Amino acid sequence: MTYGPAPIAAELLADWRSRAACAGYPNRMFFPPPEAGASQIERAVAVCQVCPVTEECLEYAFETNQRAGIWGGTTEEERKSLRRKWMTARRRTA
Ligand code: SF4
Repeated sequence: MTYGPAPIAAELLADWRSRAACAGYPNRMFFPPPEAGASQIERAVAVCQVCPVTEECLEYAFETNQRAGIWGGTTEEERKSLRRKWMTARRRTA
C-alpha cells in the first residue's frame, strides 16, 4: 500500500493549501507509516493545532475521503468516525 494523499483536484487545494502550517515540513511527516510511533503522529498533530486552515483541511479530507495521513489535526482512525458523522449531517441538509 502506498501512503500519501489520494489523487486530488489541484483547484480544490489551491486556496487554503497555500496557508497551511505544514508547508515546508516533509510530506512523510503527515503520512506516517503503520509502524510509526505515537510521537511521530503527535508532532504532525501539533503542527495542525496552530494551522489557520484546519477546518478547510478537514473538510477537504472528508469531501475527498482521504483515508491515509493526518488531515485537519485528525488521525486516520479518528477521521473514520468523524467522517461518518459528517456524512450523516450532510445527508440531513441535502
Ligand atoms: S490542518 Fe494540518 S495537515 Fe491540514 S493544512 Fe493544516 S497543518 Fe497541514
